Amino acid sequence: MADKKLIGVDLGGTTIKFAILTLDGDIQQRWSIDTNILDDGTHIVPSIIDAINHRLKLYDMTADQFIGIGMGSPGSVDLEAGTVIGAFNLNWKTLQYVKRDIETGTGMKFVIDNDANVAALGERWKGAGENEADVTFITLGTGVGGGLIANGQLLHGVAGSGGEIGHVTVETHNGYLCTCGKHGCLETVASATGIVRVARDMAEEYSGNSVLKKTLDDGEEISSKIVFDMAKSNDPLALMVVDKVTNYLGLALANAANLLNPSFVVIGGGVSAAGDFLLTRVDKAFKANTFPNVRETTAVRLATLGNEAGVIGAAWLARNAFVK
Ligand SMILES: [Zn+2]
Repeated sequence: MADKKLIGVDLGGTTIKFAILTLDGDIQQRWSIDTNILDDGTHIVPSIIDAINHRLKLYDMTADQFIGIGMGSPGSVDLEAGTVIGAFNLNWKTLQYVKRDIETGTGMKFVIDNDANVAALGERWKGAGENEADVTFITLGTGVGGGLIANGQLLHGVAGSGGEIGHVTVETHNGYLCTCGKHGCLETVASATGIVRVARDMAEEYSGNSVLKKTLDDGEEISSKIVFDMAKSNDPLALMVVDKVTNYLGLALANAANLLNPSFVVIGGGVSAAGDFLLTRVDKAFKANTFPNVRETTAVRLATLGNEAGVIGAAWLARNAFVK
């Protein structure tokens, strides 16, 4: 058992990442393939099976040398059935029998969870979470995702929506309409697209001197990275945007911490590349909104694994499910 391996799969809209890991979570091999979303995403599962079988042959390994396969996927994941539906960036509109097909195609046991939960498990196990039993994770990308680990296990809730921190309401007065149908969700202001939206609206009302304002008035495209870069060089409007966004983030994370009191709140995803500039501002708002005992015992940190969090967390899923 001890020298058996794990396979972690991180299914995304543009690439599928794979890794072979030891039971301690050390990556021994990794590779990736492009995600072929054509024909309603029907090529995706067969290409995962082929990619795994091909690598095993390459390394002269067999299915019985593995504990199993774990995978993180976008969309709504049915943990028990191992199915996925509604992953629109994969063109998966109908129910996908991922577990059934991959177990049949590889001869290995398979377990699946949603991608943000799996990234949370990765950061918790081998990253900023230091393998603590209580870790809250938020990922700031095109959307805002989250994963809540309490007593060493993910919280899923009764219908799999536990940890949807992107849809915590942070603006109760004229909040933006969210893709979920609700107004004022954290995702509408703190995702990469949300930050751009906040910048555009604040620029309309801003009358001072600002490179960010001039850029927007000239009709040039901006990104959340551009907003952060301009704030770092002291552009007054960009600083106001960053303050607003980090206040919302600090508020939402403080309220999550007030409920869960984790060891760490870990911030990952593309927007977190803004680094300490982001972290110090979020932390200030976090501390202003946390219950005193939580403020003293829960620390906010940046994620450390980058885009390896997914395959590592996926491997943990398999270890947790199949190593007794
Ligand atoms: Zn929402």
